[in-house]
Amino acid sequence: MTSVGTDLKEYPMLVDGELCASAAGEWIVSLDPSTEEPLGKVPAGSRLDVERAVASAERAAGPWAATSATDRAALVRELARRATSRAPELLELEVRDTGNTKSRMVKDVSMATTLMEYFAGLALELKGETIPASATGLHFSVREPYGVVGRILAFNHPFMFAASRLAAPLVAGNTVVLKPSEESPLSTSILAELCADVFPPGVVSIVTGTGREAGAALVQHPAVRRLSFIGSVPTGMEIQRLAATTSVKHVSLELGGKNPFVVFPDADPAAVSAAAVAAMNFGHQGQSCGSTSRLLVHADLYDEVVDRVAASMAAIKVGMPLRDDTGMGPLNSARHLANVRSHVAAAHEDGARLVTGGGRPRGGEFDRGYWLEPTLFADVTPDMRLFRNEVFGPVLGITRWTDDDDLWGMVNGVDYGLTASIWTNDLNRALLAARAVRAGYVWINGTSSHFPGTNFGGVKQSGLGSEEGLDELLSFTEQKTVNIFLPGR
Ligand code: NAD
Repeated sequence: MTSVGTDLKEYPMLVDGELCASAAGEWIVSLDPSTEEPLGKVPAGSRLDVERAVASAERAAGPWAATSATDRAALVRELARRATSRAPELLELEVRDTGNTKSRMVKDVSMATTLMEYFAGLALELKGETIPASATGLHFSVREPYGVVGRILAFNHPFMFAASRLAAPLVAGNTVVLKPSEESPLSTSILAELCADVFPPGVVSIVTGTGREAGAALVQHPAVRRLSFIGSVPTGMEIQRLAATTSVKHVSLELGGKNPFVVFPDADPAAVSAAAVAAMNFGHQGQSCGSTSRLLVHADLYDEVVDRVAASMAAIKVGMPLRDDTGMGPLNSARHLANVRSHVAAAHEDGARLVTGGGRPRGGEFDRGYWLEPTLFADVTPDMRLFRNEVFGPVLGITRWTDDDDLWGMVNGVDYGLTASIWTNDLNRALLAARAVRAGYVWINGTSSHFPGTNFGGVKQSGLGSEEGLDELLSFTEQKTVNIFLPGR
């Protein structure tokens, strides 16, 4: 991302039903992370643009909430249908803009539309309840939308997050102002086009821009009483602080993780090694919040697992992300590469043993771009920074454990609690582990998959609230209780 203007292709944003530039006419240039070449530019939205977007969202909110939930769901389904028809174009743009590999990104549009269909199908679950609170009255609750919802998103799956996270607030009867990340923002312009065609003006606005400008303005706008954020812990905390400067807001946060992958001695070392590599999501360069980047292996299997994981990581084909056979592309931005490298340096300083990777891959095609090899450190101990801090990159650390009594102290001894993967064939052990681990989303003998209808969200510093299940839909409503007095009774 850079704010220098050029003659590049313009990717407009959507405000009040119009595809437009920013009020100030400023732009953010998005670079291809493989080559550092400019790909296109999006408007650098400012406070003024956010104010315009929120004003139109406020105007649209009443009429939108007055439509039936099933009519709103039908429009969300129509958006999903149109997104599917643009899937090939979206895939190419996303791969070039993010650096994520084509083989992994190919599912992103369908992941988004699956969630859109799921929330559309839940429209009639927006119901209240009757409460037998007195003998003479009728007591019931109804669910009502907040009005204007602000959604702010991370850079790693731009279209998937933007499209899928519109569905629940819209079906619930809210209007939405969405701000994508300023890193890899181009595909949200296609979403803006689709929304302009499907929804009445103001129902969806998409304001591109930096977090400091457009993001902060959205968070602080007093008319936006419901905020939902996907991103890092420091930004999540800043959003809570900023939100409280102007009004009382409901803020939900999907934040980072330092997720454990726990291997018990009865597990099959070949299976867990393959799963541990898959669970790092190298096809997205490890830039996935749910990646299990702490591999805790029982001493009985430790050496074998280290060797197997090292061999499969060394075999990952790093290269241009649009090629079908590429297993890992470049990191998303210069900023992010520098950040990931600082974690690699910290692991060296703290005495972790580098087993494979750690540097820029060799070869002419890697002279420019934000490249790092898949990197494995072994003998990582709980006092090391690599054990505790989220890297959000292609860096896996392996830790040896011997004693069940110490294990959960190690597993839970970090600030995060997003996902966890547990590997054992012993049912009792598996169930006790599921109970002991402090995480919001747990896989037993599995990794990575999200299942629509299951609530995904973190505990501890990993967040507040959950998404992808009924709770997400209901979280975009407020409850009103009505007490009717029936004097004749
Ligand atoms: P980030 O926190 O740097 O930025 C996220 C968004 O916040 C961007 O749109 C940015 O412009 C905006 N922002 C920044 N400062 C702001 C401010 N002061 N006010 C309002 N908005 C502001 O995160 P990132 O680098 O884009 O994403 C990586 C992080 O996201 C990782 O920590 C990752 O684990 C997390 N993540 C979590 C989930 C999840 O579901 N839990 C999913 C994906 C990513």
